[in-house]
Amino acid sequence: MPTSLPHTTAIIGAGIAGLACARALHDAGRRVVLFDKARGPGGRMSSRRLPGAVVDLGAQFFSVRDDAFRRQVETWRAAGRAAPWPEALWQADEGGWRRHRDGRERFIGSPRMSAVTRQLADGLDLIGETRIVRLERQAAQWWLVDQGETRHGPFDRVVVAVPSSQAGPLVEPHDPALAAACEAVIQRPCWAAWALLDSPLPSLPGVDDAWQAVQVRQGPLRFVSRNDHKPGRADQGESLTLLAHLDWSQARLEADTDEVARQLLAAFAAVLPAGSEMPRPRSLGAHRWRFAQPDVFARGEAVNRDHRLGSDGLALCGDGWRGPRVEDAWLSGHHLGGTLVAIDA
Ligand SMILES: Cc1cc2nc3c(=O)[nH]c(=O)nc-3n(C[C@H](O)[C@H](O)[C@H](O)COP(=O)(O)OP(=O)(O)OC[C@H]3O[C@@H](n4cnc5c(N)ncnc54)[C@H](O)[C@@H]3O)c2cc1C
Repeated sequence: MPTSLPHTTAIIGAGIAGLACARALHDAGRRVVLFDKARGPGGRMSSRRLPGAVVDLGAQFFSVRDDAFRRQVETWRAAGRAAPWPEALWQADEGGWRRHRDGRERFIGSPRMSAVTRQLADGLDLIGETRIVRLERQAAQWWLVDQGETRHGPFDRVVVAVPSSQAGPLVEPHDPALAAACEAVIQRPCWAAWALLDSPLPSLPGVDDAWQAVQVRQGPLRFVSRNDHKPGRADQGESLTLLAHLDWSQARLEADTDEVARQLLAAFAAVLPAGSEMPRPRSLGAHRWRFAQPDVFARGEAVNRDHRLGSDGLALCGDGWRGPRVEDAWLSGHHLGGTLVAIDA
């Protein structure tokens, strides 16, 4: 049975890009409905609840360069949804550990990363656990078909806000040029592991006990976060997120999840200063992000900027059209929303 929805714009993907686009349309009085295959919003900014701990497995923080995004971050901060983090960032390589100071402001959702995407989703119409597998065009309107063959619509316009590698097959039957643009964007994989430890990490010689995160320049790891050192999470035990290098991840994309988790924890133990003993993990696991971050992204053109407009009301946004950060994804969706409002005016 088709579901009958009176909305004008459908947005596939409730990551930060789809949400920013939806917000811009909604705030301008347009009707919009979001679809996501996951239960809730957030995409690559989602957090995982484990027994006794919440760990961020995607983005660890976001930086701010653009004024519009800065205003958004200030809104989150005023609502208690975001806070500065990490303020104690370190770097580690064969030469040892040293404090990393570059003057850049970094923030995180509080009490978990998904707090900011949930704030964006407040008041929006979001249909979760619905993977859109096909778009159909009928009588100059769009219908979205989900994994159970339920048809949702009709809609005047469809925004596809999923990683470009996944957007291509959806738009290809209707707009081959848009699909070709998706193919040109390379989204690279990343393994992200978590480890809940039996006891706190030991004091590391020469390193402040309050260290929150470390950029690693040695072995398979690139970044390690202490989730219990993030705002609002002091009551959880030592809980690490361990992000692997993209090259390392690509080479082991189909590796066994448990084995990858063990390797990344061992890699972190190897980075600790000599003599520091690693506590035992009471929970260890890993998540494979197949489309983690754009490596080659599609630089905006004068007309379409950091998003793409296709035929018959199809449009694309997401980090792949602008750059590999949360801020890029938000800007892509925000700008597309503004463009669509202007087209309607
Ligand atoms: C491990 C990792 C670490 C990162 N670290 C950082 C960092 O520290 N700082 C930073 O700024 N950025 C970081 N990033 C990048 C940042 O997370 C992304 O750039 C940003 O979140 C992308 O947002 P998006 O909305 O474009 O895509 P996504 O967040 O991927 O949103 C797409 C949404 O579409 C949904 N979806 C996909 N296909 C379908 C379908 N067919 N039907 C319905 N729904 C669908 C997905 O479930 C998802 O919710 C990191 C990313 C990863 C993976």
